Amino acid sequence: MTDTAGRPVANFETLFHQAPCGYLITDDDGHITAVNDTFVRWTGYGRAKLLGMKLQSLMPVGDQILYATHCIPQLGITGSVSEIAVDIIGSDGVRRPALLSASRFAATGQEPDSVRVIIFSAHERRLYEKELVSALRAAEESDARRALAEEELQRLALHDALTGLPNRAGLKARVGSIPAGAATDSPGEGNPLAALFIDLDHFKAVNDSLGHGAGDNLLVSVAGRLASAVQAPGAVARLSGDEFVVVDAVAGTEEAAALAARLLEVLAAPIHLEDLEIVTSASIGIAVAQGGDDTVEDLIRRADIAMYRAKERGRNRWELHRPAPSDPAVDRLRALGELRRGIGEGALRVHYQPRIDLHTGRASGVEALVRWQHPTRGLLPPSEFIAMAEESGLVRPLGAWVLDETLKLAESLRRDDRQGAGLEFAVNLSARQLNDPGLVDMVESALERRNMDPALLLLEITETALMSDPVAAVESLTALKNLGVGLAVDDFGTGYSSLTYLKKFPINELKIDRSFIMGLGLDTGDAAIVGSCIDLAHAVGIRAVAEGVETSGQAQTLQDMGCDLAQGYLFARPLTERRLREWLASHTWARP
Ligand code: C2E
Ligand code: MG
Ligand code: MG
Repeated sequence: MTDTAGRPVANFETLFHQAPCGYLITDDDGHITAVNDTFVRWTGYGRAKLLGMKLQSLMPVGDQILYATHCIPQLGITGSVSEIAVDIIGSDGVRRPALLSASRFAATGQEPDSVRVIIFSAHERRLYEKELVSALRAAEESDARRALAEEELQRLALHDALTGLPNRAGLKARVGSIPAGAATDSPGEGNPLAALFIDLDHFKAVNDSLGHGAGDNLLVSVAGRLASAVQAPGAVARLSGDEFVVVDAVAGTEEAAALAARLLEVLAAPIHLEDLEIVTSASIGIAVAQGGDDTVEDLIRRADIAMYRAKERGRNRWELHRPAPSDPAVDRLRALGELRRGIGEGALRVHYQPRIDLHTGRASGVEALVRWQHPTRGLLPPSEFIAMAEESGLVRPLGAWVLDETLKLAESLRRDDRQGAGLEFAVNLSARQLNDPGLVDMVESALERRNMDPALLLLEITETALMSDPVAAVESLTALKNLGVGLAVDDFGTGYSSLTYLKKFPINELKIDRSFIMGLGLDTGDAAIVGSCIDLAHAVGIRAVAEGVETSGQAQTLQDMGCDLAQGYLFARPLTERRLREWLASHTWARP
């Protein structure tokens, strides 16, 4: 043989024989037809003995099964197998852990079908890994080679050496490619992930009675069966010992249970080990993702818990992990504790929504609206916590804080720029605060502390709160009024107040509820109600304010009806203090 330059190449055969791995050629049944020196040396058999021997006969029974049920079919379908962990038994009867790769070649004119097999001893493989590491360290390595070596190392790091399945780290890397929605309760985001935690029943008994070799073989064939039962992109991994995990996206718990039942079925077929027929079974725990917060680790942990229940209930079965049913009383206590801590730790925020004077188009003031920066749930609106704060009495410190925070802003705006002069500050009061005998003192000292003109503070009380105890309300409102602060009836139109009381309450404005404003231009009934509310306010000598104005059509209609003030997304959403300052500096509203 010569090379392209015509020089003799005598060392091709030498290469074949001295390569650091075993090379074999077999026929389709596995009979060895050619073998290199390395393999001859490695096994200790003479070349003559090896030729004609079946490759499988050099393996323990478990690997023979693996070769027959996995390698031969795979060679028929895809033409190759790679890195299958098998043992090769040498002439001394000692097992040599090895990795087998093979490719099938179709018959040519002169040669029949054949299979070329490469066998690396696991020892050589370890040397190879070491070489990779030192290759990585070599400073002069080219980037391309380094990338290849890193890739190879990573592949080794992500797989279980015995079964070739991904290990825990490999599983996590693989799960990322499963298209799945996070939560069962968010349809349209894809199916939720499920983890099935599989633990073989009585595996220890196999290991103890038949030896670790038999145990390993059993694990290898279980791995093969699980892998064949799960379709890509579902992932199968071996976590440790006899613990396997399957992770896949499922339509719901029913589909996860069906998958578990299928796995139990594939595992139930007898496995031949060392002339024995072993029937194995497993206990499976299932966990299906409940919400966006579930990580794969969470799922595996929950599936593990469920697996223990399956063991307790008699093995060879699956159990579903159900999160402990939530107890509303416990949930409430927990939430209350969080809110109390939140208030103490400064987790409350105040946002400010501008109020527009419809006669001038300028901002005449702002309404303070509280929010809670929850550690895990994000920024929460008042609907998530005000009712709880009211029931528990926490609304008192909360309300006092919101008032002080707002008056502090008022003070700083007055000092910093002329925009702040004359602005009104509206703060919401709850029914519970209204009945608090300390309310008037609290408001008075806040006004003093922040050096605030009482006429520029407006306290908003919902119509429902006023009407829950109108007689007491008149008393509290009168006391507040005597401080010189303004009072507003909030959400007007939703609380069935009677005209008699409306006249008795010492109020300065009616805030017409957003639900009526929404119907302006759409519903003539709503237009009539809004018109009457404005007229009613004017009849008793107070201002009419429209809440929740979202369109310029609504603003125009309100202006035409003589409404005094308006507030809503059309002008501005509730803003942080910083955004409010920017907004105040740049906005006036003019009729379009
Ligand atoms: P409210 O006093 O009637 O406040 C108006 C609510 O309507 C605010 O909701 C505001 O963000 C929202 N809003 C304003 N303009 C529009 C709009 O154009 N479209 C729509 N869809 N909504 C608009 P938020 O901030 O969620 O507050 C809800 C309620 O919580 C308030 O209703 C008030 O009753 C209560 N609240 C807020 N802050 C406090 C507080 O510090 N103390 C007490 N006791 N209650 C508060
Ligand atoms: Mg309000
Ligand atoms: Mg309102």
